[in-house]
Amino acid sequence: MDLRRVGGRIAAVRRALTAAALPLPMRITNGLAMVSLVLSSCDLLRLCSDRERPLRFPLGGREFATVVCQLASVVYLLSLFAHPEAPASDEGDGSGRAPAAAEPAPMPGGMEDGDEETVAAVVSGTLPSHHLESLLGDCRRAARLRREALRRVTGRGVEGLPFEGMDYQAILGQCCEMPVGYVQLPVGVAGPLLLDGHEYHVPMATTEGCLVASVNRGCRAIAASGGAMSVLLRDSMSRAPAVKLPSAKRAAELKEFVEAPPNFELLAAVFNRSSRFARLQDIHCALAGRNLYMRFTCITGDAMGMNMVSKGVENILGWLRNDFPDMDVISVSGNYCSDKKTAAVNWIEGRGKSVVCEAIIKGEVVHSILKTTVEKLVELNVIKNLAGSAIAGALGGFNAHASNIVTALFIATGQDPAQNVESSQCITMLETVNDGDDLHISVTMPSIEVGTIGGGTCLASQAACLNLLGVKGSIHGSPGANAKRLATIVAGSVLAGELSLLAALASGQLVKSHMKYNRSSKDAAKAAS
Ligand code: ADP
Repeated sequence: MDLRRVGGRIAAVRRALTAAALPLPMRITNGLAMVSLVLSSCDLLRLCSDRERPLRFPLGGREFATVVCQLASVVYLLSLFAHPEAPASDEGDGSGRAPAAAEPAPMPGGMEDGDEETVAAVVSGTLPSHHLESLLGDCRRAARLRREALRRVTGRGVEGLPFEGMDYQAILGQCCEMPVGYVQLPVGVAGPLLLDGHEYHVPMATTEGCLVASVNRGCRAIAASGGAMSVLLRDSMSRAPAVKLPSAKRAAELKEFVEAPPNFELLAAVFNRSSRFARLQDIHCALAGRNLYMRFTCITGDAMGMNMVSKGVENILGWLRNDFPDMDVISVSGNYCSDKKTAAVNWIEGRGKSVVCEAIIKGEVVHSILKTTVEKLVELNVIKNLAGSAIAGALGGFNAHASNIVTALFIATGQDPAQNVESSQCITMLETVNDGDDLHISVTMPSIEVGTIGGGTCLASQAACLNLLGVKGSIHGSPGANAKRLATIVAGSVLAGELSLLAALASGQLVKSHMKYNRSSKDAAKAAS
């Protein structure tokens, strides 16, 4: 017989008994059970040894009550040993643990030798959870035991969070600390996107109904019009440390030194030691009082490049101390970089890849696929994306929904989704061409931060999406080519998304299509239950 099942049944009985005893606190319930056990045992012994009144069936009222008390207290106390970690009542047990919502399912795969002791040590706090991987030398087992410890500490199950199917070794030291599972996200494919003469099937990880369908429609309109073209204007990742000097005068001297053209080769040689792919391109400084912010920009091959550029900056800061020993390094990142924050510096100077993507959409395609007119689209773009965003005080937000497409593509291909902040900066322009018959549409995106090596790109599912696009890893002898191509695919997909959403708005189809794809009766029923 499965002991865990027996334990579960006993626990269920105990919950029923405890529920009957509520609203008494758990400590009092336990005490009452002990007292009941002792008293009923004494009474039973006395009844058994009483020759004048031997125990006989059917039992009399008092005998029956004694036997019921005995059985109830034994079952209750046994269940305490079977599941000592599960709080029995919603009041908590005074330990500060969260109340149990339901009896959580036990650990996937069951327990192996030594697991019980390890989990108990994590639960008690004597073994820090983040030491599990190094202690066990087995990342999957570490994640499994951490998950079990979490179940015991919180009293809540995480059965809906999948465990199997993730390579826990692959994420160690690279993607995520203290894993207990992973989140499922559906991946849809839009396309083919006809861009620069190539067809791309664009993977998008999203839970927003309508999004993939909309981008798909945009791709159809682009392909039916002969395709889109892209141009990459700039490729430069940046990092800007903040340093403090004794005076603003001294900070200005350092600025002059690092920006002086004759010193560039020296500084580049020091910076480039960080990696065979890092090549310093530019240094641009800003002052705030006696604090100096030095914005270093460099190419980083096929890596998104944050680690690479940060290492290069550390090399430079160490080297600068020789000539500026009074320089105090406040932070290797001083926010003038600017990473994962809305900032004009990225919008104006660019960060990562700066791309423009354009297409001419035929008037007949605007009618047949997009169900609107060229004039309506152009007017809508001026009033919404340009004027509307201007009065909203937008900073790089002159578009309809670039971040929708950027984020879905970023998640699918293992990019850092937090960088959607600056990567989604985009101005969408629409004009009539060919005597007003056709539509010229473009997206200009100065800060697309992507890589095809490093970070989350190494994980199996993300690598599969990169592979689908033909940009996984790097091309031998052409470092950076895949990452640049990925940036143009991001811009091309945004172009398709902008076209389709603007058309939906112009034709008044937006709400109708969202009701169709985004609010199924199934969802509503699920949400209500
Ligand atoms: P990031 O700098 O984007 O955070 P990593 O720190 O993982 O990414 O750096 C990328 C690593 O991959 C570096 O160690 C680099 O030497 C290596 N690498 C191998 N091939 C390439 C390539 N084609 N482009 C960039 N980096 C590469």
